[in-house]
Amino acid sequence: MSTDARRSSAATRRRPLRPAQVTIVGGFLAERQRTNRERTLPHGFDQLRRSGALGNLRLAAGADGRYQARTDTSGATFPFLDSDVYKWLEAVGWELGRAPDPGLAAAADQAIALVAAAQRPDGYLNSYVQVVGGGTPHTDLAWGHEFYCIAHLIQAAVAWHRALDDNRLLTIAVRAADRIDREFGPAGREGVDGHPGIEMALVELTRVTGDRRYLALAARMLDLRGKGLLGQGRFGAAYWQDHEPVRDALTVAGHAVRQLYLDCGAVDVAVELDDDALLAAVQRRWHDLVRTRTYLTGGMGSRHRDESFGDPFELPPDRAYAETCASIASVMLGWRLLLATGEACFADAIERAVYNGVLSGISLTGTRFFYINPLQRRTHHAYEPPGHGERAAWYPCACCPPNLMRLLSSWEQYLASSDDTGIQIHQYATSEIQAGVAGGTARLSVHTGYPWHGRVTVSVVQAPDRPWTLSLRVPRWCRSAVLTGPGGTGPVAAGVGAAELSRRWKAGDTVVLELEMPARVIEPDPRIDAVRGCVAVGRGPLVYCVESADLPPETELEDLCWDPRREPATVPRPDIGDDVVGLSIPVVGRLAGSSPPAAGVAGQSVGAVPYFAWANRGAGAMRVWIPC
Ligand SMILES: [Zn+2]
Repeated sequence: MSTDARRSSAATRRRPLRPAQVTIVGGFLAERQRTNRERTLPHGFDQLRRSGALGNLRLAAGADGRYQARTDTSGATFPFLDSDVYKWLEAVGWELGRAPDPGLAAAADQAIALVAAAQRPDGYLNSYVQVVGGGTPHTDLAWGHEFYCIAHLIQAAVAWHRALDDNRLLTIAVRAADRIDREFGPAGREGVDGHPGIEMALVELTRVTGDRRYLALAARMLDLRGKGLLGQGRFGAAYWQDHEPVRDALTVAGHAVRQLYLDCGAVDVAVELDDDALLAAVQRRWHDLVRTRTYLTGGMGSRHRDESFGDPFELPPDRAYAETCASIASVMLGWRLLLATGEACFADAIERAVYNGVLSGISLTGTRFFYINPLQRRTHHAYEPPGHGERAAWYPCACCPPNLMRLLSSWEQYLASSDDTGIQIHQYATSEIQAGVAGGTARLSVHTGYPWHGRVTVSVVQAPDRPWTLSLRVPRWCRSAVLTGPGGTGPVAAGVGAAELSRRWKAGDTVVLELEMPARVIEPDPRIDAVRGCVAVGRGPLVYCVESADLPPETELEDLCWDPRREPATVPRPDIGDDVVGLSIPVVGRLAGSSPPAAGVAGQSVGAVPYFAWANRGAGAMRVWIPC
């Protein structure tokens, strides 16, 4: 975070913590990070080689060979494979900052050397344009993804700089950004990218270099969007949010990932320039998005055709698009809004997305991925869109897998923040946190069985001799929370939002937040036609689903109905993973051979597993929403 952001006049601003200030040391998320490091990242490097992403950079550097094209279903070549390399590099940067790994470091060194060699002397860098696209930069801003790729190069460079103080990528990124600024800066050509992303990257580049030209360029690109520079394309100007100025649009529109990345950049620019009107525009869109166009899993994007949000309450479970990248982008946007406003609703949204719509994108083994994340897969289907129902090792358009890698490798950065009043813990994981507070540095040790258990214990390891406030989020799903202070003081009921304790903290002080976490039955908004008359079941931050793998033979998922006379119960699921809490949910139907379906068959239950864990036991049917 730059000194500019810290000087911001807004009293609600929170400061992010640097990677070295937070470490996840145990529990569910530590396990997911370990899988990411040990399985997913090596798998990613292998796939970057196989897909041609690395080889294409080698060609751009002057090697002989044939460009390895990846194409969409119409045969059009994807021009953005460089971004897969950059996203993977960003993830590796965060990981190496946490702990050395000679294998990952050697692979990254290879990739960085290729990127450096591929860059032209004038700073331009894009393997597609350089090798097969004719060699002239920026002839197709609408579809070319040139800024988008550089955005990911910049983000990788920022990660290596912040985590490792390694500036090899930063040198390359600065040259690339300078090349863009020379052509598209204040006195230059007007241009925006069909796929946003460069805006937030340029703000980060200003934060690490102190050079405000990049921030100015980001602000300029935001102001230029909505003026029709991109044209109508195949899907209309709203597809790339070029239909209305960023500060005027009342609702999200078009391609979900593009909109969310754009709004990330808008928040970053708003914070750096104290542009409250721009920040308010994003907040307005966000609240409408969460109210009308967000799946129970935090997934966003209802339509396959143009990967777009769809209309309000158009949230079909079976044809959900809910791209993994959109869930990741929603986490990135929620985090920016949380820092900008301090409001707990953004942390709630981050939690919902991560534990459901993000983690569903990666297998428990860490090496297979979902691009789209439906909330239902039928037993019988004559047609399925590609990538529906069965995870793949990689995709021709491989945006999601390395996006998951970089989010998981930087996940600890989303746990907590600080401000002039103290420390705020937003997400719960067994972790160690240190942050500056009034009078010095405070160190905290957090222990929890989250997301399976709702007790969070925060111990003060070190604190200066001055009062400050510890703030713990009480999630919106929680109906009963109790906060117990040091020495057993309290306990007091804590309402949804932030439970705060202010005092002169001493080493050894311990606070316990007990979040009651019963299974709960969730009714949909009646305006969502596709799931009217159904219920879903959740527990804590998790949404659950029923899979055919948990049904008796000869039973089809579609035959089951919810039995409203009985309650769901928790059951251990060691077959899914250590400590996993599954649910047993009451049903009526043809289960256990009662044919035809018999209303009133009592006492039958089926197992439900966390949604994120579905499709790990072979390809089968699944549903989140169960008819009543
Ligand atoms: Zn994606």
